[in-house]
Amino acid sequence: MDTKKLAELLFPNVDKTPADMEELYPRRNLPEGAKVTRFAPSPTGFVHFGGLFPSTVAERLAHQSGGVLFLRIEDTDARREVPGAAEALIKTLATYGVNFDEGAILDESGKVSDKGIYGPYKQSLRGPIYHVFAKQLVAEGKAYPCFTDASELEELLSVNKKEEIKNTDWQAEAEARREQMLKAREITMEEVEKNLAAGNPFVLRILADGDGERKIKFTDLVKGNMEIPENDEDFVLLKSDGIPTYHFAHAVDDHLMGTTHVIRGEEWLPSLAKHIQLFRYLGFKLPKFLHIAQIMRLDENGNKKKLSKRDMGANMDDYTEMGYCPEAVCEYVMTLLNSNYEEWRMQNPDKPYTDFPFNIKKMSVSGCLFDFAKLEDVSKNVISKMDAEKVTNEVTAWALAFDKPFGEVLANNKDMAKAIFSIGRGGKKPRKDLATWKDAKGYMGFFFDEFYSVETEYPEKFSREDIKAVLSEFVEGFDMSDDMNVWFDKIKAIAEKHGYTTDMKAYKADPDAFKGNVADVSMFIRLAVTGKMNSPDMYAVMQILGKDKVTERITKMANTL
Ligand code: GLU
Repeated sequence: MDTKKLAELLFPNVDKTPADMEELYPRRNLPEGAKVTRFAPSPTGFVHFGGLFPSTVAERLAHQSGGVLFLRIEDTDARREVPGAAEALIKTLATYGVNFDEGAILDESGKVSDKGIYGPYKQSLRGPIYHVFAKQLVAEGKAYPCFTDASELEELLSVNKKEEIKNTDWQAEAEARREQMLKAREITMEEVEKNLAAGNPFVLRILADGDGERKIKFTDLVKGNMEIPENDEDFVLLKSDGIPTYHFAHAVDDHLMGTTHVIRGEEWLPSLAKHIQLFRYLGFKLPKFLHIAQIMRLDENGNKKKLSKRDMGANMDDYTEMGYCPEAVCEYVMTLLNSNYEEWRMQNPDKPYTDFPFNIKKMSVSGCLFDFAKLEDVSKNVISKMDAEKVTNEVTAWALAFDKPFGEVLANNKDMAKAIFSIGRGGKKPRKDLATWKDAKGYMGFFFDEFYSVETEYPEKFSREDIKAVLSEFVEGFDMSDDMNVWFDKIKAIAEKHGYTTDMKAYKADPDAFKGNVADVSMFIRLAVTGKMNSPDMYAVMQILGKDKVTERITKMANTL
C-alpha cells in the first residue's frame, strides 16, 4: 500500500507538516528544572474535590520550580459539555489558589479566551493541528482508516484490556472482533477510494505494533516502578467527525505545549501503554507522569469508597455555601497531598502554604481519605489565626449571601461584630470556635436580640430561689468599670453567700457538702445573658453588651423563675 498516497487521499486539505507545527510552537525556553504542568478538564460541570487535587499538585510543581501552569479545555466530547462550565471552573480554581499563567483564561468581560503562544487551548479549536499529525502517521504506515461499522468497533475498543475478561463469552466475542479489526487493517487503496467516493465516514486507527504478552518498564513519579503490557490495540485516533480521542489529543497537545509533567487521575493508568506507543510513533519525548490516586471516603459502615460526584464535599461550590474559607480548604488539601505537611506547619505556623517545599515523593500512592472532621479541625486552626477584621468581613459577606437577616445585622453593627470576634483572638492560644462562617451565628448571634433565645432551662437540681437571688444580686453589684478580677470577686462572693463554694478542691473531694460551686453560679448568669451554657468569655461578653443589655436580660430571666 502506498501510504503516502493514502495520507493524501484521507487528508487532502492538510498542507502543513509536523515540522511546521514544531516551528509554530517552539520549545519553551525555561530555566533548568522548571516544570510545565497543566490542568486539562472536560468542561462537563462543577469542579470536583478530586479535580482540585491534581490541579493543586500541578500548580505547586509549576510555581515552585519557576515553571508554567496552563489550562487546556478538553471539550472534544460536545455531548457532555455544559455551557458556562469552563468559566465557572476557572473562577472556582482561582478561589482555591490555582491560578493559570497561560491557556484558557477569563478576559475582562468574563469570557474564556486564550493567553499564550501555544493555543488554541480549547481542543475543539485544534482540529487542523491534530490532522497534520494524523496525516503523518498515515503516511508512515502507523495509522489507517477504518470504514467498517464504526460504532461496533468503537464498542470493541472500549474493552479495557487490563481488566481480566472473566466471562468466556466475552472473551470469544472480543476475539472475534479483534479478527474483524485485523481484517480492517488490510484495507486496499481501491476500497478506500470507493468509500471516500461514496462519502462514507471513517475513523482513523493506530496500527499497533505492540505485543500484549510483552511488558514495558515504566516509572510513574507517584506510583513508582511498574510493568505494563505493550499496547496491541488499534485504538481510534480520530473519530468519524475528525475529532481526536483523548489519547491522540493528549499526545499532540502535551508535546506541542511543552508539558514536562502530566498530572492526572489514576483512571488513566490503563491507557498509558497507548500513550507511550503514540508518543513513540509521533517521535515525541515522553513527559513525566504523576498518576494521582482517587480520593476515598468512609461510608456509614466504615468502608472505604470512592468520593463520588454526588457525595457531600465533592462539589467545590458546596464549600462556599457551607461557609468554609478557601484558606482552610487549601490547607486541608495540602495535609492530604504531602504526608509531612502537618509537621512543617507546626514548625512554620505563620507561613503561607506556598512556602512549603512540596515533594512528589511524599504523596500517597494508594489514595487519600476525605474526612470532614479533619477539615473542620484544620479550618478551626486556620480561622483562629486570622485577625478580627478579616473574620468580621468574611462572616458578614458569607451571611449576606446565605443568611441575609444575620448578614444585615452584622453589616449594621460592624464595630460590635469586630469587638466580638476579637474575644480570645491573638496570643499564643487563640480560641478555636469557628470551623466555618456558618458557625458564627451559633457562636455569637446571641449578642443581637434578633438571634438571642434561651436554649435550655436551668438544671433541675438547682433551686430556683438560689438562681433568682444570684441573678438579682449580680445585677445590683454589676459595674462596667470593674476590671476582670473585681468582677469575678463579686461573683465569688455571691457564690459563697449562697453555699456554692469557690474552693474547687474541696468541692471535688465532697460535692455533697455544697449546693454547688462557683462555676454553677457563673452558669446561672451565663444562661441569662447569652441563652447558652457555653459562650465566649463572660467578662468580655458583658463589656461588649453594656450595662443596660446585661441588666435587661438578667432581670427578664429572673422574672421567669
Ligand atoms: N480531560 C481529561 C480528564 O478530565 C484530562 C486528563 C489529563 O489530565 O490528561 O480526565
